[in-house]
Amino acid sequence: MLENQLLKIAQDFGSPVYVYDAEKIESQYKRLTNAFKSVKKLKINYAVKALSNISILKLFNNLGAGIDTVSIQEVQLGLAAGFLPSQIIFTPNGVSLSEIEEAAKLGVEINIDNLSILEQFGTKHPKIPVCIRINPHVMAGGNANISVGHIDSKFGISIHQIPHILRIVENTKMTINGIHMHTGSDILDIEVFLYASEILFETAKQFKDLDFIDFGSGFKVPYKPGDIETNIEELGKKLSTKFNDFCKEYGKDLTLAFEPGKFLVSESGYFLTKVNAVKQTTSTVFAQVDSGFNHLIRPMFYGSHHEISNISNPKGRERFYTVVGYICETDTFGNNRRINEINEGDVLCFKNAGAYCFSMASNYNSRFRPAEVLWHNNQAHLIRKRETFDDILNNQIAIDFSTKKEKDLVK
Ligand SMILES: *Cc1c(COP(=O)(O)O)cnc(C)c1O
Repeated sequence: MLENQLLKIAQDFGSPVYVYDAEKIESQYKRLTNAFKSVKKLKINYAVKALSNISILKLFNNLGAGIDTVSIQEVQLGLAAGFLPSQIIFTPNGVSLSEIEEAAKLGVEINIDNLSILEQFGTKHPKIPVCIRINPHVMAGGNANISVGHIDSKFGISIHQIPHILRIVENTKMTINGIHMHTGSDILDIEVFLYASEILFETAKQFKDLDFIDFGSGFKVPYKPGDIETNIEELGKKLSTKFNDFCKEYGKDLTLAFEPGKFLVSESGYFLTKVNAVKQTTSTVFAQVDSGFNHLIRPMFYGSHHEISNISNPKGRERFYTVVGYICETDTFGNNRRINEINEGDVLCFKNAGAYCFSMASNYNSRFRPAEVLWHNNQAHLIRKRETFDDILNNQIAIDFSTKKEKDLVK
């Protein structure tokens, strides 16, 4: 999107505000489906938790995607957005048997990642086919927060426990219709991904009733110039060949599924904030914006890098700034960033604000969560109103202590 379009949105809708470019979402979706065009049956299930606004879900529905959900509420949100139960996969971690049963009742595909739940579910509902989440023990990336395939990860059933899975399947007569892995959030090395896929193919051979294999996600997108991103086109070529070969060997055209979040929406997003104050200290110049980790927590939570630019003064002289928020805690968005000269009132734009930004926002410091705007067909559409004070008080119950005391006094 262009700077002047973003600036106009900040003026029209106020700040802070999240903006998503529908065209970018569409082009990422098409890039992914194109990369795997030699696979007969391909299913892209958008990971709702990355950005869960209902209009974004409707956009994905319109593109022909399915969705990957991790809570019963996300399942319900998907249904509300118009997805059919058959287009929804439920891939939770650590939820109760009853929540899984609730999702199964709605008719969505269930993905189970725990032997105890598998045994209980199979015993009670042997006629409902389920997918199983395998942990192939492959380390993707280096950050322990976002690598979920390693040996002591809480995600998935270990490949070393396949004999136990097979025993449960035999004893309960349940059907396994899919196998799944999701190794982490940073696949930089395609060879690592392909290695994990080999493990999944080997595992798949032991299950005779499969309809699909789900390779999860972990596609890395660039956050700053020079960043390595997953080479989707190369991965598509190599994995498609392997997958098609496997289908021949298996004797059936299975569906190849993915469930990307970040890849599809990260780069579509912009977070616009206004500078409240420029503050010089003995060693640095702070730009303090009207936001904090209540609205965008990734830099503080994962150390993620979001490019920051001054869209009010794009031609200004570049200076070093430390961009911080207004929360009463350390909330540094970026240290020593080279940004065009900042004046109070300027609008700063954070890039890659599509995935895990609004969906992780909170009301900390009793602040409102921002508005969300979708840029579609060269027009700005408000897709979520900024919260109001009523939202802050909603669900809170105020006890009136003073009247109680008065009553006591009367007695
Ligand atoms: C979060 C999640 C995803 C999406 O991961 P991205 O890194 O955003 O692509 C996919 N599958 C599962 C099971 C997840 O929990």
